[in-house]
Amino acid sequence: MPDSYISRAEGALYKTYSRFPVVFERGDGVRLYDDKGQEYLDFGAGIAVMGLGYHYPEVDEAAKSQIDKLVHTSNLFYNIPATEAAEKLLKVSQMDRVFFTNSGTEAIEGALKIAKRHAYNRGLPSDYEIIAMEHSFHGRSLGALSVTGNAHYREPFDPLIPNIRFAEYNNLDSVKSLFSEKTAAVIMETIQGEGGIYPATEEFLTGVRALCDETGALLILDEIQCGMARSGSMFAWQTYGVKPDVMTVAKALGNGFPIGAFLAHGEAANAMTVGDHGSTYGGNPLVCAVASKVLDIYKEKDIPGHVRNVGGYLWDELEALMASSDKIVAHRGKGLIQGLEFNVPVADIVKSALLDEHLVLISAGANVIRFVPPLIITEADVDEMVEKLGRVIVA
Ligand SMILES: *Cc1c(COP(=O)(O)O)cnc(C)c1O
Repeated sequence: MPDSYISRAEGALYKTYSRFPVVFERGDGVRLYDDKGQEYLDFGAGIAVMGLGYHYPEVDEAAKSQIDKLVHTSNLFYNIPATEAAEKLLKVSQMDRVFFTNSGTEAIEGALKIAKRHAYNRGLPSDYEIIAMEHSFHGRSLGALSVTGNAHYREPFDPLIPNIRFAEYNNLDSVKSLFSEKTAAVIMETIQGEGGIYPATEEFLTGVRALCDETGALLILDEIQCGMARSGSMFAWQTYGVKPDVMTVAKALGNGFPIGAFLAHGEAANAMTVGDHGSTYGGNPLVCAVASKVLDIYKEKDIPGHVRNVGGYLWDELEALMASSDKIVAHRGKGLIQGLEFNVPVADIVKSALLDEHLVLISAGANVIRFVPPLIITEADVDEMVEKLGRVIVA
């Protein structure tokens, strides 16, 4: 029975997702294959995770050889892959210290704990505040949800962390009006992903940095989706001439192996001390061996440079597509994190692309199609994607 995995999954898995009726079995490069052997072109990369695509030989090799050596020891001891991955990540991120986590959400939890510990160290009164952004997404745990600017996600789980103030993204006056001596930290994505692909403007990011500098508040930049070269630089903030105090990374760091990290520099790098945080799996030798290899490959293959080139090509092709369709009303993004906004909900377009054209696309909110392909795509892949999407849009 062809759909047996789908009905079995629906009978067994907790129902918090509405899934597309496809069972993927195998991947290679920018292609996925379902359980019937049919091929798909993937422009979603498992939600911006598979930067190097599927089945990248050197990454697979790094994982296999580490499995033969040591998979896990806990953080009560030192291990070689975590040390190497940490040094490499600090070098490309210009940060001072890193803590490895198992997911993006956990990296956000760690960043929030730094903000809280830093406020405590500074002696701020306990009603200190954190400023977050409307339409932001930082994860689903209770802490990450507290700073996620989507009331629909938050409300069923209230009360969450208190004294979170939501500002309008890319509106410096909105942040300014919420800023005070009580502000412990500002948290935001350098490029909003789930919220519809909105890059921070230079004026906004430099302005928020200046506000933080004036009062001693920490600037936390969430680079979980836009980081790891996706914007065309290793981390999206690196082209703005400002530096965060704390940064979160995950998604593409492990190219499919579950690893995230929070990183800090300056005072924030020492805000927490022995006993303040921990994780049993966090930074285990297996995921760190993979992340270490991923970081090597990004450097050797100049993945950021490739993203700037092919991202520019994608930009031009999507501009042309927008000009040819009156359903597309805006185009935003940078490198290989781009979005097309439609004047209709995109759910049907995304579904038809998948089922009729075997093109994997994902949405960001109701009206935006988000393009976050593997970073190794070529111009020919872009051409094929635009051709397929074009057919769906006119249909
Ligand atoms: C995906 C995402 C998260 C959450 O990461 P998980 O690995 O799903 O926990 C947090 N912030 C941003 C910007 C994300 O895109």
